[in-house]
Amino acid sequence: MVPNVKLVIEGKLVESRAAEWRDVVNPATQDVLARAPMATSDEVAAAVASAKKAFATWRFSPIGVRARIFLAYQGLIREHMKEIAALLTKEQGKTLADAEGDVFRGLEVVEHAANIGTLQMGELANNVATGVDTYTVLQPLGVCAGITPFNFPAMIPLWMFPMAIACGNTFVLKPSEQDPMCTMRLVELALEAGLPPGVLNVVHGGASVVDALCDHPDVKAVSFVGSTRVGTHVYERATRAKKRVQCMMGAKNHAVVLPDANKEQTLNALVGAGFGAAGQRCMAASVAVLVGEAQRWIPELVERAKKLKVGDGAAAGTDVGPVISRSAKERVESLIARGQAEGAKLELDGRGPSVAAAVKGGNFVGPTIFSGVKPGMTIYDEEIFGPVLCIASAANLDEAIAFVNANPNGNGTAIFTQSGAAARKFQEEIDVGQVGINVPIPVPVPLFSFTGSRASKLGELGPYGKQVVLFYTQTKTVTARWFDDSSVSGGVNTTITLR
Ligand code: NAD
Repeated sequence: MVPNVKLVIEGKLVESRAAEWRDVVNPATQDVLARAPMATSDEVAAAVASAKKAFATWRFSPIGVRARIFLAYQGLIREHMKEIAALLTKEQGKTLADAEGDVFRGLEVVEHAANIGTLQMGELANNVATGVDTYTVLQPLGVCAGITPFNFPAMIPLWMFPMAIACGNTFVLKPSEQDPMCTMRLVELALEAGLPPGVLNVVHGGASVVDALCDHPDVKAVSFVGSTRVGTHVYERATRAKKRVQCMMGAKNHAVVLPDANKEQTLNALVGAGFGAAGQRCMAASVAVLVGEAQRWIPELVERAKKLKVGDGAAAGTDVGPVISRSAKERVESLIARGQAEGAKLELDGRGPSVAAAVKGGNFVGPTIFSGVKPGMTIYDEEIFGPVLCIASAANLDEAIAFVNANPNGNGTAIFTQSGAAARKFQEEIDVGQVGINVPIPVPVPLFSFTGSRASKLGELGPYGKQVVLFYTQTKTVTARWFDDSSVSGGVNTTITLR
């Protein structure tokens, strides 16, 4: 008997009446951990109705009251960090240390949500006309929905509901059906921290549940993180239904390596950012562009990648866990075969890595490196989302910048160099939303916002930070004049002028 993953409606864990269920599987052992429901349309409607009802009062809750709930919440997440990370590793596969990192990066957003009072302040201009002041208030939108991917089941849900709720909205979350258990644990802790019934609701499911949220007239905003194909669909569907939508999507992140870079640091960064989390990060460094003499570093890069230990993320000493599913493994392996067939040089083949006997059936692919990769090859044109690093070359920095800018994606990029002038030129000329300078995975902390760009993003404002406060609120401008009893009437004014 495996447990059923529950829905959350009106602040209660609810057993779904779904006819269709999906197994949640440990990707290292293939053990079935739980069953996730594909919620019915009535259940989605009930979750939205619960959020709508709660909004009527939550929207007027004092900023300090909301902040204190997130203050309590961050304490609970800290207290349960190890437990949540262990659950995350079990259902997602990443190593325990990386799972703690996943929870921690989400925790940082919760800490920020407990502290966003100043970001919610409007502006005031005194005396814009005689006795007239104009000011803005940032008002919550209503029911907001969030749809999250499998690869960060702690961090990405925590990008969404804490900030939406801290802004006075209520929320319906649709976690990934592949690994919803640690997300559910985080939701339970949010309820324990004091969120009133209906403020945070959860439904599980796939395309039909997502479509129902995109179409529902009472959902005012949709945040999506996931693949470009699904994100584009969600953006179009929810925008057509006149909602505010932000979609953070797929990527191909280039690390440009200049020959003057600190070699030791750079090779370690490439290996860590290329193969960590088995390459299943939207900010993974999946392409290295080696400039000039740096092209000689390939053998050392391969040697370092070979040393990574592949295995169960829960086992001590593992560097690279499994990919999420059997089909993900087959897809990555077929892309590796395609890379060979299309003429790239397979420097390191991670297919069929040796792993401990207990996890022989897991979805493992080891670090894989191709050199001589060019646009037009499938391994370059598609996001692989596995532990595969593609190496391309460039004669100089200008050529490298042109190469990166010609790729449609704009999630992240990095340059490795000891030259401030080269780094600054890169920062200015590169057309990618998040830039690292000797930092391989430049995901901003929540004082800033996540700013992927071009094909990696639809919608103007990014998750967390100042941008998401604008996303989750409507700016209302008030122009006010008060008359005291001694005011003299200026008569009827038929012009547009404020006098
Ligand atoms: P996915 O697009 O398959 O799934 C994302 C969500 O959409 C899930 O909740 C899923 O249930 C739902 N979904 C799946 N198919 C759907 C359909 N046909 N219609 C409506 N909804 C559907 O993504 P994934 O495989 O879970 O995650 C990996 C992808 O997410 C990668 O492309 C990665 O780059 C991207 N990602 C992007 C960011 C970012 O910030 N840009 C961050 C993390 C992950």
